[in-house]
Amino acid sequence: MSTLTSVSGFPRIGQNRELKKIIEGYWKGANDLDAVKATAAELRAKHWKLQQAAGIDLIPSNDFSYYDQMLDTAILLNVIPKRYERLAFENQEDTLFAMARGYQGEKGDVTALPMKKWFTTNYHYLVPEIEPGEEIKLNSTKPFDEFNEAKALGILTKPVLIGPYTFLKLARTDQATELEYDKGLVNAVAAVYAEVLTKFNELGAEWLQLDEPYLVLDKEPGDVELFKTLYTKILAAKAGVKVLLNTYFGHIADVYETVNLLGFDGIGLDLNEGREENLEAVAKYGVASNTTIFAGVINGRNIWRNNYATSLGLVDALKQVTPNVAVSTASSLLHVPFSTEGETGIPAEDLKHFAFAVEKLDELKEVAVLADATEDEKKASEALAANQALFDGTRVAADPAVAKRVAGLTADDFVRQPAREERQKLQREALGLPPLPTTTIGSFPQTKEVRAERAKFRKGEITKEAYDEFIKAQIDACIKHQEEIGLDVLVHGEFERNDMVEYFGQNLNGFLFTKNAWVQSYGTRCVKPPIVWGDVSRAKPITVEWSAYAQSRTNHVMKGMLTGPVTILNWSWPREDITHEEQTKQLALAIRDEVLDLEAAGIKVIQIDEAALREKLPLRKSDWHVKYLDWAVPAFRLVHSAVKPTTQIHTHMCYSEFNDIIRDIDAMDADVISFEASRGDLVVLDAIHDAHFETEAGPGVYDIHSPRIPSEKEIEDRIYEILDKMDVNKVWINPDCGLKTRGNAETWPSLEHLVAAAKAVRAKLAK
Ligand code: GLN
Ligand code: ZN
Repeated sequence: MSTLTSVSGFPRIGQNRELKKIIEGYWKGANDLDAVKATAAELRAKHWKLQQAAGIDLIPSNDFSYYDQMLDTAILLNVIPKRYERLAFENQEDTLFAMARGYQGEKGDVTALPMKKWFTTNYHYLVPEIEPGEEIKLNSTKPFDEFNEAKALGILTKPVLIGPYTFLKLARTDQATELEYDKGLVNAVAAVYAEVLTKFNELGAEWLQLDEPYLVLDKEPGDVELFKTLYTKILAAKAGVKVLLNTYFGHIADVYETVNLLGFDGIGLDLNEGREENLEAVAKYGVASNTTIFAGVINGRNIWRNNYATSLGLVDALKQVTPNVAVSTASSLLHVPFSTEGETGIPAEDLKHFAFAVEKLDELKEVAVLADATEDEKKASEALAANQALFDGTRVAADPAVAKRVAGLTADDFVRQPAREERQKLQREALGLPPLPTTTIGSFPQTKEVRAERAKFRKGEITKEAYDEFIKAQIDACIKHQEEIGLDVLVHGEFERNDMVEYFGQNLNGFLFTKNAWVQSYGTRCVKPPIVWGDVSRAKPITVEWSAYAQSRTNHVMKGMLTGPVTILNWSWPREDITHEEQTKQLALAIRDEVLDLEAAGIKVIQIDEAALREKLPLRKSDWHVKYLDWAVPAFRLVHSAVKPTTQIHTHMCYSEFNDIIRDIDAMDADVISFEASRGDLVVLDAIHDAHFETEAGPGVYDIHSPRIPSEKEIEDRIYEILDKMDVNKVWINPDCGLKTRGNAETWPSLEHLVAAAKAVRAKLAK
């Protein structure tokens, strides 16, 4: 029998983001739900047929979603909070969109479910909320409808669902801690999955894939028991249909033995992330005789060509243990762009090194064919030879100057002098700021006008001079307004930037940009990360001119605004031929050049954003330091270690979940950090207090993700809450993130209230 090929999931947004366009059209009232459904069906058919044409055996269905597969799972299980049910929509789709985006209209007023990052990706899922007494039952026919839809096209698909363990671990319950004891809930969830299994058996499915990525995380007490309880019940319902337990984004070495004993027909292992541990576990515990190992060899998280020799080696290693090996994508292809076709802006010589989703299908098939080939056949294989050629020799000429600079770094380059406490005193004098200084995070509203002008400039419809004049006028107005309302440390507003990573990438050597390589971030939102192609260095000063211009327009302190090296790397496609650590060091040196130039140009406060630092924190705690923080934190220090003691370095992070890495954040050795601290979330303030956090900090005093205008009183209360936990000399007053996505109408009154609140508190403190 030839080696089976399996795809875990395929991108659903469409080659030209058709799904995004039609759904957003529906929200705006430009088209109806039937149009959405028609486009959705076309996309599904197209994607199935593409996979069929590529010769894939196990083609996924139910990997499609209007918004998010976690939300679909919640609806499937009837995990719909009452406040959404009360809206009483006629269509399940409208309920779905209300849960995803909130709803404000004639039927009521509800906020959306919270959103979180899906493991270490930049994809966001909606966090299901299980209310006490929720009636868990099979509540949707979506998986069956999509299976039948494909069947009608002559394609027998492998339905894919998020598994019950991952669902329960990620869902929010009122009795979260009691979850594992709450047998009622666990049994009810297991019963629905058993029903799904039975139903697919009747419909004639051959395989069912249950995704359990949560298995790659550290286990808490009761977790393994929970997993076993769920699957013992589910597998008892198994008739003909085979069950593939799929894992990704890491290894499952700590539960492999248990998983192997449960009698799954297939176990999917990620052989990119967690490769060694997974292979060791298989070698140690073996593979049950009726179980096939699905070797996740095609990377679903990066865009580089697969190295066939490496993949074949992995398959061989597994075949030492069991003859039953299938090949698979290491995770869903949801996290890679659609196809390299049409990327004419990238030279063919470079483009041949990339494989997006469509190209990965061919790779998967070729690896399967080669896995069955004899040694002689392999020798004669053109596919293998062509693949080998991609990896022989150097892909891209190294930049010896960069290598030399990195090699020349010494321990001193990663340490700023003098110690922070000393600096903070000097800075207070040099900057002459009041207590509780007020500032913002960097960007101001990017109005339609700003975006339109940038589009015109990009298309060559206006000259660079005209565009620059326009930006200058924006900066002038923004500064004037900030002065009028009385902010202390000003910003220029970031009107010249489209995106905080792309803007920098475009001015660095070593990056490539695509036209259409969109990847879903949340709902209909997509991002287009740049590609790290070669050694990175700064081509020319990037922000200096604009910051210097802005500083020349005011007597206030103007804050320079940069994106940090870890965030640039995390929101790009990194190289695979050198480590992330090495790439981050190169980026750090490039941004360091910018920092020093800003300082030389008279900028006294420089903010280096690390919005995505936590995103790639490894999933297993034991890896946090050795595999990530031990180089990510020093890389940040490298960026700013050479500035004068009086130059104040700020950083910003878009989340407050850093209680568990608070010492590492302090070790970044910034002088000031601003971060999100939504209302009532005081845990982080406790952590700051308990850890004797040294960095001055601005916990966001209002939520910029909502158009609501906070009152002065509200902000004042918030400041007192902060002062309860923090030394007044270390507190900054700011919103919780950049204001780019907001409108001017709510931004300015909110900031006026912020300044007034800070002044009121200062006055009371002075008494
Ligand atoms: N300085 C950036 C801005 O204000 C920070 C953005 C972010 O935190 N995501 O837009
Ligand atoms: Zn932010």
